[in-house]
Order: sequence, then structure tokens, then C-alpha cells
Amino acid sequence: MLNRNFDLEIKSNHSLEKLNTFGLDVASESFFIVKDLKDLRNILLKNKNKKITVLGGGSNILFTKFLDGLCLKIDLKGIDIVEENEKNVIVNVMAGENWNDFVEWSVNNGFGGIENLSLIPGLVGAAPIQNIGAYGVELKDVFVSCNTININDQTEKEFDEKSCLFGYRTSRFKTTDKNIYIITSVKVRLTKEKHKYNISYGTVKEEIGNREINLKSISKAVIKIRKSKLPNTDLIGNCGSFFKNPVINELKYLQLKKKFPSISVFKVKKNEYKVSAAWLIEFLKYKGKSFGNVGVYKNQALVLVNLGGATGKEVLSLANKIISEVYSTFKLSLQPEVEIL
Ligand SMILES: Cc1cc2nc3c(=O)[nH]c(=O)nc-3n(C[C@H](O)[C@H](O)[C@H](O)COP(=O)(O)OP(=O)(O)OC[C@H]3O[C@@H](n4cnc5c(N)ncnc54)[C@H](O)[C@@H]3O)c2cc1C
Repeated sequence: MLNRNFDLEIKSNHSLEKLNTFGLDVASESFFIVKDLKDLRNILLKNKNKKITVLGGGSNILFTKFLDGLCLKIDLKGIDIVEENEKNVIVNVMAGENWNDFVEWSVNNGFGGIENLSLIPGLVGAAPIQNIGAYGVELKDVFVSCNTININDQTEKEFDEKSCLFGYRTSRFKTTDKNIYIITSVKVRLTKEKHKYNISYGTVKEEIGNREINLKSISKAVIKIRKSKLPNTDLIGNCGSFFKNPVINELKYLQLKKKFPSISVFKVKKNEYKVSAAWLIEFLKYKGKSFGNVGVYKNQALVLVNLGGATGKEVLSLANKIISEVYSTFKLSLQPEVEIL
């Protein structure tokens, strides 16, 4: 058996500038690209006392300082159909696959369920962390299970949909079990026929227009809408929505509505409402404004942008300014969706 020397493969003081979509110029103390599971187990064993940071596509992380410890960039590849019947397929996707490439693969194969999640940046392994969602669909709607490796003892564990504790942009991996598990693969159930098309959210229906409603036309429409609203991360550093929409009860909703009649609020279920964080930020006149090297995107108030040469601290300082002003005006606590390191 090949006895590989992992110390040789670990890079020191490695720049992460090209590995985070904010384009922030930070480095990690040590860095390793995980290409297979055996390597992952070995590297965890050999670095037991080090702080471990898992990195996917870096599209939901704000680096505010030098990253101590070992950064593991997940690059595990593979897409396999592991079960199939007349109606469904169950697909196992390795954590290092690009999420949008997987969506494209599904749509091209005629498998339905994730077409509304087209063009979300990042890797498959990060998708369960915040239960990615867009245009009325969330990962949890198709999720079967994920395989993980425990960072502390290298044991493997599979979590089914229920045990992941998915919620709005959250899961056990972002809350109770934060920094404990590395997701190595994800299984999803996709439809082969009788697809449940969801075109009621946003302007998807209008974008499809007279064209036939199918997986490809929905995916195309979502991509077009997203491109018109969100900045291209290759051109403008950003992490998509920086904040989550605050969730409130009916009493708070009625109080806000009285004071701010035009406030944008969606009913989620009985006694649960979601306030549009974008509306709150726009109301406070932040949309399109710049503050030195950082700013709020002109087409979407939820997106904070690196205008060039920004540091993570500058982005964080703008985020905190917005959080504080939203609180003093509306008595609402804005929570970042982005992981701040
Ligand atoms: C332009 C833009 C638009 C976006 N639109 C959406 C959207 O519509 N909906 C949405 O939900 N999100 C959206 N996002 C956010 C982002 O794309 C998702 O959160 C995505 O899942 C992050 O994937 P990533 O691989 O880049 O994760 P990273 O940013 O690398 O990591 C995010 C977090 O997950 C952890 N992590 C990553 N991989 C693993 C793993 N294998 N095991 C354990 N932990 C891991 C990291 O440590 C970190 O805490 C958008 C981002 C951008 C830039």
C-alpha cells in the first residue's frame, strides 16, 4: 500500500482569495485539498488538536481574519444513481460536486425536484448546512440523507431528513452540531415522471411566458431571473443574501404593519410571518450605497458587495451598521445567513 506523506501535501500560509466569492485576501495557517475519504480520515487523525475549517465553494463564508489551524477544501467527486423505480431515482452525490452542475445533470437527465435551485453557487456538501432554498423549493424537499465524518473521532454517520433538523436556512450542522461533522455525500430523491412543477414564486411564471412548462424551461427562467438580480461573483465579490428574513408572530406583524403600512411581509403559517429583510434595508436607504470598499448591491438590498480591495472586517462593519439601524427602527434582529469566521 502506498504510504503517502501527508505533511508534504499540506500547504502552509495558503491564500484563500480565489476560494471565497467575496474575493477576500486572507490566508489559512495550513490547507489541504480532500480528494478521497481515506485521505480525509488520515488527515483528521494526524491533526487532532488543530482547529479544522471546512471549505466548499466559499460562497457563504465571510473571512474576517487569518484562518488559524487546518482548512480542508472538499473536492470529493462522483454522482451515482443508487436506487431507481418507475417514478423516482435516488442519487448519491459526493460533497465536492458543484451544486449547479448537479442541477444541470438532473435537468438534462429529466429528473425533477431541484430545477428551482438552479445557479445557487457552492458545492453539494454545503447544501444541507443551511438547507439551501430558492423560488419556493428547499433542499429538504428532495433530501434523503447525508453521510458524514466526525471531525473529532473520524466515525462515519448517516443522517436522514428528520435528524438533520432542517429549517429556514438552517440545520443541525449550523446549530447544535456546528463544526462537528464533515458532510461527505448527499442523497436526494428526484422524480422521473409526474414532476411537481413549482412556478408560483417570484416571476418564474412570467419569465416562462408561453413556453411549455418543463424542467428545462423552469431552470432557464430561474437562471435568467437570478442573473438579472444578483451580481456575478467573478466580477463583484459577494455571498448572495447576507441576512435572513426575520421571522415574527402575528402580534409583531400587526404592530409593524400599523407603523409601516408598506412593509413587505409574507405569511408562513398560522402566527408565523417572514419580514422581507431586503425591504427593511431598502427602507433605510442602503440599497446601492457604498461605504469605502464595500457597499449594498444596487439591484438587491440583501447583498453586500466587495467593491474592490475590501477586508472582511469592512464587510462585517457594514453588516453591523445595518443590523443596528434595523433594530433601532423596527425592533427586529437581523441574523446573518453568511458564516462569519
Ligand atoms: C450570488 C449568490 C447567490 C446565492 N443564492 C443563494 C440562494 O438562492 N439560496 C441559498 O440557500 N443560498 C444562496 N447562496 C449562498 C450559498 O451559495 C449557499 O449557502 C451554498 O450552499 C454554500 O456552498 P459553499 O460550498 O460555497 O459553502 P461554503 O461557503 O464553502 O461553506 C458554507 C458553510 O458550510 C460549511 N461547509 C461547507 N462544506 C461543508 C461540508 N462538506 N461539510 C461540513 N461543512 C461544510 C463551511 O464550513 C461553512 O460553515 C448564494 C450565494 C451567492 C454568492
